[in-house]
Order: sequence, then C-alpha cells, then structure tokens
Amino acid sequence: MQAIRACIQIEGIVQGVGFRPFVYGLAHQHELTGWVYNDERGVTIEVEGDKDRVKGFLSGLSSPPPLATIDKTDVSYLLPFGYEEFEIKMSGAGDERRALISPDIATCKDCLNELFDPPDRRFHYPFTNCTNCGPRFTIIEDIPYDRHNTTMAPFKMCPACDAEYHDPSDRRFHAQPNACPDCGPDLRLFAASGMRVAAHDPLGETVRLLQGGKIVAIKGLGGFHLGCDATREDVVSRLRKRKFREDKPFALMCRDVGVVSRLCRLDSLSRGVLESKERPIVILPRKRDAKVAPSVAPFQKTLGVMLPYTPLHHLLFVEGIEVLVMTSGNVSDEPISFKDAEALSRLKKIADFFLIHNREIRTRCDDSVVKPFNGTITFLRRARGFAPFPIKLNRSGRSVLACGADLKNTFCLTRDNSAFVSQHIGDMENLETLNSFVQGTELFKQLFQIEPELIVHDLHPDYHSARYAMGVDLPRIGVQHHFAHALSCMAEYNAMGPALAVVLDGTGYGEDGTVWGGEFLEVTVREYRRLGHLRQIPLPGGDRAVQEPWRMAAVYLERVFGEIEGLQLPFTRGIDLERWSQLRRAIEAGLNSPPCSSMGRLFDAVSALLGVRESVNYEGQAAIELEQIAEQGERGVYPFEIIEYGDTLVVNPDPMIEAIVQDIRGGEASTIISARFHNSVVKVVCEMAQKLREWKGLSDIFLSGGVFQNTFLLGRLWDMLREKGFTVYTHQKVPSNDGCISLGQAYYALHLQGAESTQ
Ligand code: ZN
Ligand code: ZN
Ligand code: FE
Repeated sequence: MQAIRACIQIEGIVQGVGFRPFVYGLAHQHELTGWVYNDERGVTIEVEGDKDRVKGFLSGLSSPPPLATIDKTDVSYLLPFGYEEFEIKMSGAGDERRALISPDIATCKDCLNELFDPPDRRFHYPFTNCTNCGPRFTIIEDIPYDRHNTTMAPFKMCPACDAEYHDPSDRRFHAQPNACPDCGPDLRLFAASGMRVAAHDPLGETVRLLQGGKIVAIKGLGGFHLGCDATREDVVSRLRKRKFREDKPFALMCRDVGVVSRLCRLDSLSRGVLESKERPIVILPRKRDAKVAPSVAPFQKTLGVMLPYTPLHHLLFVEGIEVLVMTSGNVSDEPISFKDAEALSRLKKIADFFLIHNREIRTRCDDSVVKPFNGTITFLRRARGFAPFPIKLNRSGRSVLACGADLKNTFCLTRDNSAFVSQHIGDMENLETLNSFVQGTELFKQLFQIEPELIVHDLHPDYHSARYAMGVDLPRIGVQHHFAHALSCMAEYNAMGPALAVVLDGTGYGEDGTVWGGEFLEVTVREYRRLGHLRQIPLPGGDRAVQEPWRMAAVYLERVFGEIEGLQLPFTRGIDLERWSQLRRAIEAGLNSPPCSSMGRLFDAVSALLGVRESVNYEGQAAIELEQIAEQGERGVYPFEIIEYGDTLVVNPDPMIEAIVQDIRGGEASTIISARFHNSVVKVVCEMAQKLREWKGLSDIFLSGGVFQNTFLLGRLWDMLREKGFTVYTHQKVPSNDGCISLGQAYYALHLQGAESTQ
C-alpha cells in the first residue's frame, strides 16, 4: 500500500450545509485519516491513506450534499503525516468570515417524512429543519454562521437536539436552527385586536379559521403572508378591499403539484421549478376551469403558484385545504411586514387573526417570482431561495456598493469577483423601503465583510437610491440607466462586448436629461453609444402618464391624426376631452411633458387604445394585460418606419398606430390587434438589429428591460433573431426589470477599475 496525503481546498457554499459531516462520512467510507476544517474561504480537508482510496474520496467530493455549491477545488499533495483518525476540527473565531451564506431553503424530504411520521419526536412540529433545509439568510445576525449569531440564540437545545447537533453522522450535525417541540420555537394565535387567542393547538385553530373564511396573517420565513381560502370569492374580494389592492394578482400556495396541475398547465420544467429547493412563485398558464375565486387574478390568463416551503406551510394543508391565497403581508405597495409588533399594527385592519411564532425574522425577504421560458426560468423578482447567493464575475477589484434603481430596487455589493445582489427591496418612494435598503446594505457589509471603496448610482437626480449615494462619503460613479441594464445582462455571461444591447423598459433617465426606454446601444463594459431609439413623444404629466396609459394613447393619436375629438373611436368617446385639452396645452407650452422614447409607454398607448387598460392600479398592468390577450396563432404585422437622423436610427411607430386604428374601425378583435402589435415590435427590433449589424458588425445581442418580462414578445423575438443569425443573450440570474440595475452598475465599476489600473 502506498500512502499519500492530499490537501483539498474548497470554495463555495460549503458551510452550514452539512458539508463537514459529508466529508467525515466519505473519509470513513474510504478508510482515510486526517481532518476537515471550515476556514475563511470555505473548507479545507486533509486526507491520508492508500492512493486509490484517496482517489475514490476525491471523486466522491463531486457529489456534495444538496445545499452545497462548489465553486472551486484545489488539490495539492504533501508527505504523509501519520494521522490516526479522521476528525472534524472546530474553527476559531474569524476563520469563517469570508464564507458564503446560504439562502433559505425549502423543507427537505427527510424532514417532511419526520413531520408526518406519528412516532417521530418532531411529528407535526412546524420548525423542523436540518443541515439540508430550513432558514438561513433570514435568521442570521452576524458571522460566523453559528447558532448564537442567529435568531435561534434564545433557544437552548434540549439533550436530544444537542446530541444530534454534535454527532457527525447525524443529518443535524451543526444544523444551527436545530429545534424540536421540547426546546424550539412555538406558535401563538392572536386576534386582530391584539388579544392572544387561548388555543391549545394554534395551527389547528388557524386551519379551522381559514376553512371558515377568515383572513389570517401567517408569519413565515422572510415575512408575513396574508392567507385565506382561494376558492371563495367573498373571502378573496374582502382581502382585496382591505389591502387596497384592486387588480394585482394574488399568489397562491397549493398543497402539492397534483393540485397545481388541476389549476394550471404544467410541463416538466415548471414542475421541477415548483418543487425545487428554492420554491419560488411560478407564473403558469391557468386552466379555463381552474377552481379559484375570480378575484385571485382579475384579467389574467395566468396564476402565480408556489408549493409549501416550510413545515408550518405543509401543516396548513393537512386538514383538506388545497389552495390558499398567500400574498405578501403588506398594505398596497409597502414592504412586507416581518416583525411581530409591526405586523400586528400594520395588518390589523386586513387580517382577522395572526399566526405568529417566537423565532424572530432578522431580514425581510419576499417570495421569489419566476416565469418559465425557453427551457429555463426568467425572474420577475429574485429574493427568497436565491439571495444572497453571489453572481460570479470575471473581474475582481476594490469593493463596490451599487445602489440600483428606485423601482423594484436591489442593491449589490462586490467582494473580489463575487457580486452579492440583494433580495428584492421594493419601490423606494416609500420610507419603509428606504430603511430596508439602508439596513440591508449595512447587513450585507457585515455578513460578507465588505467595506466598499466606491459607490455607484443611477443618473436620475430624483432617485432616492442616487440621493443616498450622494450622502455617502466615498468616490462616486453614475451609470446611465439603460447602459446599466445592458451591463447587467452582460455580467450574467461575463461578456465584455462590443455588442448590441436592446433595452426596452418603462422609463429611465437619459444622458440628455430626457426620458429613455426604447434603446439600441452599442456597448462594451466601459462605454456605450446610443445607435438608435424609439422616436420621442411627450410624456404628459411625467409620472402621472405612467399611471394613466390613456394619456399615451391620446398623445400618439394626436400626433398621427392631428386631433382626437373627431376620430369616433371607442377610446376617444371614453376619455375626458376637457382634461385632454388641458394636457395638450401643457404639452404645447412644454410644461411637465418631457420627451420620452419609452417602449413601455408605447405598449401602454396600445393597451389604452384597445380599451384593455386606460389607467393602472399597479406598475406595468396595461402592458401585462395586453400580453395576456394576444392571440398565439396570429402572425400579422403592422408597418413602421426606421429613419436615419445623422448617425442615429429612429423608429417611428406612427404607421403602426394608424393601422391599429384602421383595424379597430374594421371591427378586428383586440386579441388579434394585440398579437399584431407584438409581432410588429419583434420586427422593429429585428430590422434595427440587422441594420446595426450591417453598420457596426455586431452580431451578439443582449436583451434587457422590463418590457422583456413579456414572454410572448421575448419568445418570438428570440426565435426571429436567432433565425437571422444573431447570438441572443437574455437574463437568467436577475430580473430584466430594474431589479437588475445594481448588478450592471457593479459590473461597470469593477471594469472601470481595471481600466484605471492598466492606464
Ligand atoms: Zn431537512
Ligand atoms: Zn430539542
Ligand atoms: Fe429600467
């Protein structure tokens, strides 16, 4: 026998995920001696023994426990030392400072088996977890990730839990949130008045309340949900009224995949995503006969569905409930409640009861929302299950804090080549959200040991995120909004450019002070040039126009036909002509009507023109509903013009508007018109891309911006661009909406530093 000693250094998510016991087991299996140790970068292992066994051990490392992610493995060989046994060495303070923190993970199969096994000591215990599942990010207060640094600190483990915790062969070895009914958190039920309800079984009582049509605020992993029976219209519409939420769809939680398949069309991809360890909300095509209350998702052909992801959720479904509304516990656009006292006061007019537990949530984290697309997923919201997992970049440098945008805000901190993109923070006009942003950046700095040396922000002078950056005493860089969109898609692929970026979104602050949003950019990681854009029109009333899409329709009609009053369209008969003439005067006087090249606003205009949506109750509603009605089979296209102005290509959509009006007059169905409009936008982008390829020789295309959440559009565009020989890149790791801006800003700053240092 030839004895060798191998030293293995592993980086990635390898702490707090059962990695050391896994290594311990593997070493024993191969009869090797040595040790395993958590250090600041990950895990270091030494194993010693027969050469072939060491080889076997090394190949075994490639199938780590489910929550571990190995980024890098380095193996070196040393002279044998003569270890007598294999041990797990305990780490000292400071050794685990740079390790990655796992996102919160859905209950694993083993824990579920225990949860529903009557003789098990954790039978029906709502806080069951192990090293393969359970809370992480939302309970951690400081590093290293040890129980005393989590909100589990007040709970002293009982002897049975303690034994599991210290047994390297146990699934709960060093499972920091380990708990059982004897020693862990428990549930309490409160009435809306704040009075505790004397219930021997708060969970069973909650189930009865839900069955009886009550709305219950339920404390989960990263915040409160408002839960109620999703099949009862009276109940769901009551929730809508109390929440001041008119149309925005509510998320559903279904007992299992079988229930989902009765509500929605499911393929193997969506099924896999629903059952993944991240368990996001998945947007799925709704079946016509889906038995849910109409108020769950008005005007939608889709439903947002998730599966239970904590033991508490699983237990809500044991008594026959199959589908619950489980929407964020907030009032309209405020951030989700996550502290008990705050929830009790903010939600008391919405919820009839509160199911609360005494494990504190340290960090607010919403459910993630995804849509299946092209064999993978696109994010609408990246949060629970994904944050704070970093995105790996091809560039290291001084640490950067990127502040993101004001809508759907995320921030991003970098350390070396890791970009820690925060969970979805929300819309910054809200004081609560702003606090969440500031506290979030502080927490990330602490958890990932980052002291940023540079701060990056959007150019918009009124963005709260940009103003925050102004107040921080660090060197600052501003990055144009749509350039940041492009960069963030490039960052996902570590692309450097030159490439073409097509950025279609609602609004963003342009370099010239006007509003941009239908942009064709030549990009590298260092700079961009605006090669083309949608023709500018006035945005009457600025942000008010975003809430009232009818204004955009009126602006387009006025431009194409020179008037509105005489058009005799259903749309023009419906609008307040008095109001419109005021707005028109404001436009003529150049008052509060900035020029705007936004594609999102063109979608708004068409949506309003078709009578789909004239004013919105949530961001993007008009475009979302326009997509919903588009007829899949329709291939018709409207005309448009591409005009050269100097060295810029400008898309003039006026012929489209004219043709749409003709179709409306001819009695064409909205579903057909919507599809033709979508097809036309696809053709616009394709023709622009082809012209720019001829001109600039660019055949890589990056697509970003909130408009690309429209998968009808994205799917057709993807197909057509590829047909024309382009290499197309879309977002897969962060949303295409403004949730991606922080990543793009960070990517820019890292590459800028590279430029500085090479100069
Ligand atoms: Zn588990
Ligand atoms: Zn215990
Ligand atoms: Fe944007």
